Amino acid sequence: MAAMGQDVPAGPGWAGKFHEAMGRIPCPWGGCGVFVKGEVELFEATSTAVLHLAPLSVHLVREHAFFQGRGSRYRLDPAPLARALGLA
Ligand SMILES: [Zn+2]
Repeated sequence: MAAMGQDVPAGPGWAGKFHEAMGRIPCPWGGCGVFVKGEVELFEATSTAVLHLAPLSVHLVREHAFFQGRGSRYRLDPAPLARALGLA
């Protein structure tokens, strides 16, 4: 978030940019609090993969094992996500 619209450091083969947004959004499961809006957009150099990492999206994966539906802008598709995290 400190990048404020500038490039952000990303792993090898990935480029990232932070996009700020106003407001907060609650977890749809409830009882988890609210999460600031805004996202880091990650682009993979060797594919067309684009990941939109928002605080709520990261929470949904970590706490609810929910990667969001196919076609959703905020889906964190497990295969490119694993590559971005250096796990694949
Ligand atoms: Zn939650």
